[in-house]
Amino acid sequence: MISEQSQANNRWEMQKNKVPAWQWVTRIFSKWIGTDKGGTSSKSGLLLQTWQNWSKNIVYESNEPYYFMPEDKTQLREVLLQAERERQNHPNLTVRVSGQRHSQPPLVVHDNRNVVDKSDVVENPPVFLVDMSCYADDATGGERLLVDTSGNSPRVIMNSGVREDELEIFLKNNDLMMKTVTAGGSFSLGGITAVDAHGATVTEGIFAETVYSFTIMKANGEEVTIDENTQIAEILPECASLGDNWSPIQFARVSLGGLGIVTSIKLNVQPRPYQETLLGGTEWFTYSGESTEQEYFVNNTSRLIGEPGEGDGHDRLEVFFNPYQEMSSSKGFLALFWDVQEDPGSQTDNPEAEDVNVCGDANNGEGPYGSPILPYGFAQSIGWEAQFREGEILRTGMMSIFMTVIELIVGRRNEDYLELWYTIQVPPVIFMSYFIPLSDIGPTGLGKAWEALNVVAEKVRREGQDFYITGPMEFRFVKGGDTAMSGTYSGNSDTYFVNLDLLGFIKADRDNKNNVIELNDQQRYEAMLDFFAAVEKEWVAMDGFPHHGKMYGFYNPNEPEEPSNRPFNEGFLQDLRERRGEPQEKFKEFCDCIDPNKIFRNKYLKTLLGEVENTVG
Ligand SMILES: Cc1cc2nc3c(=O)[nH]c(=O)nc-3n(C[C@H](O)[C@H](O)[C@H](O)COP(=O)(O)OP(=O)(O)OC[C@H]3O[C@@H](n4cnc5c(N)ncnc54)[C@H](O)[C@@H]3O)c2cc1C
Repeated sequence: MISEQSQANNRWEMQKNKVPAWQWVTRIFSKWIGTDKGGTSSKSGLLLQTWQNWSKNIVYESNEPYYFMPEDKTQLREVLLQAERERQNHPNLTVRVSGQRHSQPPLVVHDNRNVVDKSDVVENPPVFLVDMSCYADDATGGERLLVDTSGNSPRVIMNSGVREDELEIFLKNNDLMMKTVTAGGSFSLGGITAVDAHGATVTEGIFAETVYSFTIMKANGEEVTIDENTQIAEILPECASLGDNWSPIQFARVSLGGLGIVTSIKLNVQPRPYQETLLGGTEWFTYSGESTEQEYFVNNTSRLIGEPGEGDGHDRLEVFFNPYQEMSSSKGFLALFWDVQEDPGSQTDNPEAEDVNVCGDANNGEGPYGSPILPYGFAQSIGWEAQFREGEILRTGMMSIFMTVIELIVGRRNEDYLELWYTIQVPPVIFMSYFIPLSDIGPTGLGKAWEALNVVAEKVRREGQDFYITGPMEFRFVKGGDTAMSGTYSGNSDTYFVNLDLLGFIKADRDNKNNVIELNDQQRYEAMLDFFAAVEKEWVAMDGFPHHGKMYGFYNPNEPEEPSNRPFNEGFLQDLRERRGEPQEKFKEFCDCIDPNKIFRNKYLKTLLGEVENTVG
């Protein structure tokens, strides 16, 4: 089923000659602050001198207005029109959406701190960033979210700028819930579905695979709706050759922002008639005299998962691991779980939850965006110091505190029947997250999951290392799927993956090349990169694929003598392309068809798809 907006072309033509009032206001403002160059190339975006992502590993600086916050379809089309005009002067200008700014690769925009001459359009390609926080679409009747009553199964339609916590509240108020949720709740729906973000539901795939349809605005202002049944020939006849074995939904999920601007999303959800329909709990792994850690791990995880979908284990499971603890202490693994109760013993109506104001929080692009952050500097420095040889007491103490705090917070959220638990302030950290396929969810597959965790455990338990982790590892089980660019892509939908997260504290003060400043710190930074690279090599050898929203590519397979490289280096990306093979080739082909002028393909995406020399490291 498709619903191509047939009137869009005419409206688009009409708008080409029309400048809305809001744009005149910003043009006058641009003139007043001296950024309007006059003529057709003038921009009407906000002047946001610094854009940075959550972990502040990407910083984009500009003295030009480049940030747009459209409130409806007309304004969004106007941004694309302006981009088209601007491209006459700067053919390499791209348009990207900025969500809640959590992704750690330069997905939204490149880091331009080290570009001395900011007007160098090769080193610093011009970009328009579109923030959908205040956007309301026709599809939702100008509201932020709507319950979709058209189908047999429960669904909601929402604007892509809706935040996950906003969605959770809306669903609860309508006796519904998500099929799987991330820990955070601070991400935009556009952002988590453009990458392979996932939750804790053992029998579900990545979050994007719970989306029924996406409506996407292309560079020319036309919209296409892609749902689970859409055929390529229906929406892009010129790309019909792609369609024999591939359907557009496989590319619309985890689109990496490369197809266009997602305006609205229709999500499959499930009933939650009572607050007790979803019950959460926590549990430490118990030691029963096992002789090996693998046995201990397999026994505990098997018990917690049970036979997936059969009701004898937990439906949703997220586990934290402190490798500094002996298994006999029963303090090494903390499991968080949530269970769906069809007919709960006690049945209380869902209480009316308080709304959040995502548009207000965006504060004209100044934020704050996303997850709460501990004041930059102090806490970050402690985390940084604890990671090196002399920080042993600090890191083992911090690790235990982390585990206890997580248990407390999740316990409190469970008392309120809230699944999005990650509401604590933490210092900005980097994550490396990998999906590793398991042959099954029995002793063999779980044994492999343990081996993947043990890659890290075995390293940090050695004495005299240059780097040690200070935050617990985290793992969840995710079902395989058919989304081309997902780390969980699998020919067999019965495949399970374990997703592992490794975190590192980064030094607060950095120079314009994103390196730490003091020599001593620089050596430590290299030690950290070497550690991540060593772990990554072993996870790749286990057929692992990286999560698109986090850090990866810490080594270059073409330089085996080098212990590490800068993240996202070309050698790694090339190897990744070869490993992904056909799904990635087809994704690129689809991007080429839907966005032939590559307006949505920024520097990073081009590098990822193998079009230009790497300049992102
Ligand atoms: C503290 C923290 C906790 C995290 N926890 C989890 C977790 O529990 N599980 C998990 O899987 N991941 C997790 N992540 C990763 C996170 O899910 C991804 O980084 C996700 O992309 C964040 O969404 P965002 O709104 O911040 O997107 P952004 O980082 O702003 O954008 C991500 C990508 O989406 C694109 N995009 C956004 N909106 C649109 C749109 N409307 N149309 C087209 N493209 C769009 C952007 O252009 C960009 O390419 C975590 C990250 C952090 C920093």
